[in-house]
Amino acid sequence: MKIEEMIAVERADCSGCSACANICPKNAITMTRDAEGFAYPKINPDLCIKCGRCDATCPALNAKKNLPDALPKVFVATYPDEKVLRHSSAGGVFSALSEIVLREGGIIFGAGFDKKFHVAHTAAHNLDELENLRRSKYVQSQIGDVYRQVRDALKSQKVFFCGTPCQCAGLKHFLGGDPDNLLTADLVCHGAPSPALWEYYIGAFDDAHEVAHVNFRSKRTGWAGYRFEINFKDRVRYSNGLGADVYGKFFLDNLTLRPSCHRCKFKFPNGQADLTLGDAWGVQKYAPEMFDNRGTSLVIVHTAKGKDFFERLTLNKKEVNFNAAIRSNTPFITSVLADTRRKSFFDEFSKSDNKVAVLQKYYEQDKAELKKEPAKPGQTYNEIYRSVVEHIRKQFKRNILIVGTPPENFKQQLEGCGVYVLKVVDGKIICTEEFSSLTFEQKDLAALNDFVKRFNVTEIFVGDLANAAPVDEWIKTCGLPVQTLKAE
Ligand SMILES: Cc1cc2nc3c(=O)[nH]c(=O)nc-3n(C[C@H](O)[C@H](O)[C@H](O)COP(=O)(O)OP(=O)(O)OC[C@H]3O[C@@H](n4cnc5c(N)ncnc54)[C@H](O)[C@@H]3O)c2cc1C
Ligand code: SF4
Ligand code: SF4
Ligand code: SF4
Repeated sequence: MKIEEMIAVERADCSGCSACANICPKNAITMTRDAEGFAYPKINPDLCIKCGRCDATCPALNAKKNLPDALPKVFVATYPDEKVLRHSSAGGVFSALSEIVLREGGIIFGAGFDKKFHVAHTAAHNLDELENLRRSKYVQSQIGDVYRQVRDALKSQKVFFCGTPCQCAGLKHFLGGDPDNLLTADLVCHGAPSPALWEYYIGAFDDAHEVAHVNFRSKRTGWAGYRFEINFKDRVRYSNGLGADVYGKFFLDNLTLRPSCHRCKFKFPNGQADLTLGDAWGVQKYAPEMFDNRGTSLVIVHTAKGKDFFERLTLNKKEVNFNAAIRSNTPFITSVLADTRRKSFFDEFSKSDNKVAVLQKYYEQDKAELKKEPAKPGQTYNEIYRSVVEHIRKQFKRNILIVGTPPENFKQQLEGCGVYVLKVVDGKIICTEEFSSLTFEQKDLAALNDFVKRFNVTEIFVGDLANAAPVDEWIKTCGLPVQTLKAE
């Protein structure tokens, strides 16, 4: 398939990454906004020489399936500098990485505001310029010719590029490789709202007050209960919960995201960045000592280069369990479902002369009544997650049955293996794995033989064997290698 055909028939595959426009040797591609306000490539036939470079570069048409050999290491982290932390959405890891690269004479590319508070990728050459790149902007950032700027900068200096997973993939496809002096970090990405909608929203304030500063993630009331704030030049401040603001509510409700965000091709494990940064939502549950409500980052390390940079950072950090962290942050692994009103909202908003009335109408509608679309098979968190985990298990070729409760110190070693836990409760044998649980009568040892065959169990580890008879007898005859687990 070629780009023009994709835009005509599978438009939602295009993430708007702009790799095609950047690669075109004749500048024949213009990123042009549609009625919803998202940019898509438009090819000028008078300039096009049909070289095919745009089609060969497009990450949507040439999506890579990256099945990793093991689950990546996951950390939660906070930058110790109070000011940087306050000026960051999460735990300030973006700033910590940027500071290293700047110290080494490098350049940073990330999403910033222009004078009208429209959002576009831009460069920071020093700490002063970095301030504009800090913090999440919940708007699709325009790439312009930034991939070309990155390519030029790479000729003489280090570059750190931070953006959404589709933008990092766009950059890698544009460069056609991964130069040693390039570091990339993508984001756990809920999805990107329409830039035209944002520009309408922020422009609407102009009549009353001139905007001085926008912060989607003010920590005035803490990281967990963050606020959306706009400061005006006349010292007036608008401050609201993101979910209570009309623009913010539509973003969180998945009403105004780009169509590609509902079938994103760059979720784990198909991202192409060295690191993924996010908010460590749920950290209170899985690493409570790392929560102080000033902001905690989630950091997922994908490559040796990412590991090297991350290890050099002076941060408060702790390695955490992949499953625990990702279960509280599912956009890392799966796309969010669109609000069922999405199409009608954009139809009405783009055509209406009274846009305020349309915003008001959708803001006030009772969501509980409207959002009933069930999750589609193959799109749910568990479906995608399971296929990744199963792939990794096949690589490991180790499926382990643990009899009884394993000691705490053993759990880390099991990461990435197929792990089944067998317990005996009230005369029944219960075999569980991450996604299912099988229960059979305690005396029915034939069922246990079927279980190990069906799930290709390769080893048995015997933990706390209390009440396990006659399972202990079965273990002696099952023919699989058996080890006994001891607490450290
Ligand atoms: C649209 C969007 C959706 C997100 N969804 C989630 C989510 O569901 N779960 C989650 O845990 N985290 C999400 N994040 C990421 C999170 O909000 C933080 O940006 C991330 O944790 C980095 O925080 P930090 O404290 O390290 O640095 P910060 O200083 O807060 O991050 C700044 C960096 O984020 C990048 N950035 C900011 N806005 C944009 C943008 N519009 N487009 C591309 N890059 C941008 C900039 O390039 C900048 O380099 C999202 C971010 C964005 C922009
Ligand atoms: S085919 Fe070549 S010249 Fe034509 S739009 Fe694509 S990259 Fe540009
Ligand atoms: S390169 Fe990016 S912007 Fe261009 S068609 Fe492909 S996905 Fe869309
Ligand atoms: S959800 Fe996917 S397509 Fe949408 S902005 Fe994020 S990375 Fe891009």
